Amino acid sequence: MSLTHESHESKVALVTGASRGIGAAIARQLARDGFMVLINYANNAREAEALAAQIDKAGGHATTVQADVAEPAAVKRMFDAAEAAFGGVDVLVNNAGIMRLAKMADSDDTLFDSQIAINLKGTFNTLREAARRLRDGGRIINTSSSVVGLYQPGYAVYAATKAGVEAMTHILSKEMRGRNITVNTVAPGPVATDLFFEGKPQEVIDHLTKLTPLERLGKPEDVANTISFLAGPAGGWVNGQTLRANGGAI
Ligand code: NAP
Repeated sequence: MSLTHESHESKVALVTGASRGIGAAIARQLARDGFMVLINYANNAREAEALAAQIDKAGGHATTVQADVAEPAAVKRMFDAAEAAFGGVDVLVNNAGIMRLAKMADSDDTLFDSQIAINLKGTFNTLREAARRLRDGGRIINTSSSVVGLYQPGYAVYAATKAGVEAMTHILSKEMRGRNITVNTVAPGPVATDLFFEGKPQEVIDHLTKLTPLERLGKPEDVANTISFLAGPAGGWVNGQTLRANGGAI
């Protein structure tokens, strides 16, 4: 962990799972929007540090913070570190997640437990900390998936974790009454990242590419732009919603 920047002027955004994929694009975009960005990662310190350096070089402010979101104590330490360095957190983007696909009959306990631990409990861990500590006027943006709605075979457990995230979003938005904090979820469709490509045969990739009327996979930047809207002044009246950013897949 390297938390070095000292400023209480700018707003601070914490992005979980930001070393790669969609999270990295979110971190880049929020830095361009003027946020001081905390790049959380689980294992890939080198990629996270390289991204922070890239953002700093482009005139932004970013720093990295290692934490497994599945671990409540690690999440608490991540918020402690953010507060020590920046004075607080204004925007939480819960992006960290994993996807393990198998039909029910072929799913083992590890497939179930790992996705519950990271996607559902991990989101709960950061939401609980944010509910206690996010500065008034802040924004919380969770990540679901358009598989909640598409419901394709093989996605049962993954979709169940994301449906749980959507449920927590609606409820937390109400619990934040009086603090001017919005809570929303973005539910992307297929996006070209490691998570999407891993283990998929080419014909499945081709099929999913053609799923949307726009006939292309999403780019991490497509999702980052949606999150930038929700985190910024233009998104202030959107609250308690799940916003599908999926090119029209569903
Ligand atoms: P990705 O390319 O696999 O990147 C995952 C990121 O999450 C990495 O930065 C990884 O960190 C981090 N991460 C994983 N487990 C973590 C943990 N326990 N604690 C902290 N960080 C952890 O995935 P992605 O495609 O960008 O997906 C990002 C989010 O979008 C996920 O929630 C996913 O479910 C959702 N989503 C993706 C798609 C898609 O098609 N790609 C569609 C809909 C929704 P390390 O680098 O350190 O491992």
